[in-house]
Amino acid sequence: MPNQDAMRSLPSVEKLLQELDTGAFDPVPRPVVADVVRREVATLRERVVASGTPLGDGEALAAVTAAVLGLRAARLQPVINATGVLIHTNLGRSPVGQRAADALRAIATNYSNLEFDLPSGQRGKRAGYLEQLLATLTEAPAAVAVNNCASALVLILKSLIAPEKREVIVSRGELVEIGGGFRIPEIMEASGAVLIEVGATNKTNLEDYQNAITERSAAILKVHRSNFWLGGFTGEPMTEELAELADRSGIPLVEDLGSGAMMQTDQLAPIEHEPTPMEILRKGVGLVCFSGDKLLGGPQSGIIAGRAELVAAIKNEPFFRAVRCDKLILTVLQETVAEYLATRHSDDPSLPHIPVVRALATPVEELKERAQNILAALSSSALQAELIATVARTGGGTMPRSEIPSAGLVLRHPSLKAEELAERLRSGVPPVVGYVDEDALRLDLRTVFPDQDEELGRLLQHLAE
Ligand SMILES: *Cc1c(COP(=O)(O)O)cnc(C)c1O
Repeated sequence: MPNQDAMRSLPSVEKLLQELDTGAFDPVPRPVVADVVRREVATLRERVVASGTPLGDGEALAAVTAAVLGLRAARLQPVINATGVLIHTNLGRSPVGQRAADALRAIATNYSNLEFDLPSGQRGKRAGYLEQLLATLTEAPAAVAVNNCASALVLILKSLIAPEKREVIVSRGELVEIGGGFRIPEIMEASGAVLIEVGATNKTNLEDYQNAITERSAAILKVHRSNFWLGGFTGEPMTEELAELADRSGIPLVEDLGSGAMMQTDQLAPIEHEPTPMEILRKGVGLVCFSGDKLLGGPQSGIIAGRAELVAAIKNEPFFRAVRCDKLILTVLQETVAEYLATRHSDDPSLPHIPVVRALATPVEELKERAQNILAALSSSALQAELIATVARTGGGTMPRSEIPSAGLVLRHPSLKAEELAERLRSGVPPVVGYVDEDALRLDLRTVFPDQDEELGRLLQHLAE
């Protein structure tokens, strides 16, 4: 028999719903708020029954408020990325450009010619225009887009294997784990391919590949080491040699490139060179695949480019239907690629309006100037803010060695710990995500868009009040 006093200390769901300041929970739908309150009350009831101890004054309201606010914070919403990590997997990888965003709105809110041929009025080919743009961009005979690079790889392998020809040869130095805990051996298993490991972790020779080729071989796969590097006593055949071997053996060479850099990264910033799909295809690789939302700066997608007959086989593979892109992704990808092609062709040497490309290429002097301007606008606050040199990174499992000189702000507060300051900034509208180092909150401006500076200044001002 539960303690009656204790049970009376638990307010009803209806009473709590009335007491909650629902305005503060906007835009969480009312029925969801009610569900959360019911769940919290049930949990509190269990606790009261078990302990026989009454709740404190306002305890139930506080618990319910915290639960609803926690859920509210979890809704997908824009944040200001002040981490200095350009392709931040937890912050949605790459933001897309204005051109793509504008097109997205138009396609999302209207009917479109997704699978309709306007000249003939007949059923049309989905993504035909995008595929032409991708082929031109990658300088490949053919190209196609799917949901992400992991599914692109599964699809490629599925299209290449046959019942008696399932073996795919991979160097032991490339059996990597890529984004989201997905490992190359597991991807191969998912595709039905049989993994044939060759060489050693640090060294694989051309002969290792050659000796593994049999009549059961379906392909040679190379995986770009995008999220780690090998140093010391290492070696691998040149891609050209491997392509020649594959050709002689009548099997395709496939390379999973991951990042999809379209620009010469070493010319944009003082960082290393990331191979582009064009460079890899020129070496004789039959098919490449890469992500759309890493260095390309587009939507989550996986792009496959290469020989026409291999791409055609991919599109005929039944699994293709399961991983094809929806019209919103197709639109964003189409306009992202068109933006690259527009600047590539123009006499105007300006960079494409692709946020990650622009952020990568911003001179550190410009970031310092922006930091100074933000500092100058901060008036008479308890917050101590200073300009600092920082180190930005590409992130997203790309170019782990590349440190990009950057600039930002370091923030200290006389009574708030760095973690508390960081938490306050994250609970603002919009939330700002920085990082804590040496007991101080740091904001890197390389990943903050210039048109967010004013808002960031306002949020900092507010933080100190
Ligand atoms: C990131 C990465 C992938 C996975 O790409 P998703 O688009 O996230 O599926 C695959 N391969 C390599 C080499 C990568 O770097």
